[in-house]
Amino acid sequence: MKYRSTRGSAAPLAFDDVLLAGLATDGGLYVPETWPRLTRRDIQAIGGLGYADAAVRIMRPFVGRSIAGADLSRLVHEAYATFDHPAVAPLKQLDAGLWLLELHRGPTLSFKDYALQLVGRLFDHILRKRGQRVTVVGATSGDTGSAAIEACRDRSAIEVFILHPRGRVSDVQRRQMTTVTSANIHNIAIEGTFDDCQDLVKALFNDAAFRKQARLAAVNSINWARIMAQTVYYIVAAAALGAPDRKVSFAVPTGNFGNVYAAYAARAMGLPLSRLIIGSNRNDILTRFFTTGAMEMRPVEATLSPAMDIQVSSNFERLLFDAYGREGRRIADVMTEFRAEGRVSFGTARWRSLTRLFAAHAIDDVTTVNVIREVHDATGEIIDPHTAIGIAAARAHRDPAVPTVAIATAHPAKFPEAVETAIGRKPALPAKLADLMTRPERVSVLPNNVDALKDFVAGRIGGKAAA
Ligand SMILES: *Cc1c(COP(=O)(O)O)cnc(C)c1O
Repeated sequence: MKYRSTRGSAAPLAFDDVLLAGLATDGGLYVPETWPRLTRRDIQAIGGLGYADAAVRIMRPFVGRSIAGADLSRLVHEAYATFDHPAVAPLKQLDAGLWLLELHRGPTLSFKDYALQLVGRLFDHILRKRGQRVTVVGATSGDTGSAAIEACRDRSAIEVFILHPRGRVSDVQRRQMTTVTSANIHNIAIEGTFDDCQDLVKALFNDAAFRKQARLAAVNSINWARIMAQTVYYIVAAAALGAPDRKVSFAVPTGNFGNVYAAYAARAMGLPLSRLIIGSNRNDILTRFFTTGAMEMRPVEATLSPAMDIQVSSNFERLLFDAYGREGRRIADVMTEFRAEGRVSFGTARWRSLTRLFAAHAIDDVTTVNVIREVHDATGEIIDPHTAIGIAAARAHRDPAVPTVAIATAHPAKFPEAVETAIGRKPALPAKLADLMTRPERVSVLPNNVDALKDFVAGRIGGKAAA
């Protein structure tokens, strides 16, 4: 199995090289050259497997010869052993024909764990085989930082530096990062905003000499391996609800388009799906696109669902690649136009064909709080603001004849203030994190200055990165 870039000019790579590369050298994203196919019997068989065995079965063709079968199986089983429900991704019924897929059962309570717990292990495994090390540097305003830290802690081939804006992330989110005091984890509070943190990370990656010397790597949401790992829960959930004999729909609160693209990938592999329903907050560029056909950037607004406060959904490029008949040159052109103009049209016919599968719905913060309250009143379930957006989107677009699964992307305890506004009390942290607020923290404060950051990183990795 080889992967090619959505922009068409980077050389095709095998899975292990794609994993370590992240972005392609032509600025594109990697996609499989051909989709591995699941037959009806495969899907039936998956319905009878535990989560980790299903994951091995689904991911094996994507990994190809890059990792030996027994190693992949061990890494997958280790990754999903860290989750706190025997089903790993349990389904709960909310209403007639409406289900909730709880994807907050991992160590850091967001769906990011389902991909990153595995990706951290895959990185470490491949690097150690190659006798290499990498330095992961990332900026976070929320869930990705803690999920990456938890996935990479104590892995000897990976040194991790995560920047967050000092005083601008919630106590729970900060502590999920800073209470991990493993020697290879470095939390940095930057005197600045989240955008400053992102600019610092970009500046580090743009310094070719530093990038090479420190062997910088990213585990961001455009990494193919994250998409691959996320296809698993869609296939497992659909099989539990009757696939391949019954079609289901999914409703996905969407930011960077990684999660919902994984559902699209599952469909490309042969999973019978009816609709993919996208939920947006006030940053509704995708909902405007699916409603009007125009992709038009607007300034980012802060909302109660910060993981979706995004205007440019990087993974959308992967969907476009298929919509343009896999012609990379044309993707490079439309993406350049979009970056330059802030708006682009992909043509009416292409838009219409996408709307046969995708629907979208946006809600504001007031409605988000109302949905949290209504779901609690009706079912007793406490949901987080992102999940509420998925449920609202499911209600707006679902076909009563088709089982619809709304994705719960985070545990409500990650967003206690919004939940308290809705139901009058804060949700409790799960038992595994009950002492989070009293654990010791370790964090370094740095000015918003790229040289200070370079010195800090170089000082911590010392001679290790050269190995
Ligand atoms: C990352 C995240 C999202 C958005 O997912 P994408 O894959 O970026 O679309 C939604 N909800 C939560 C809680 C998240 O952490």
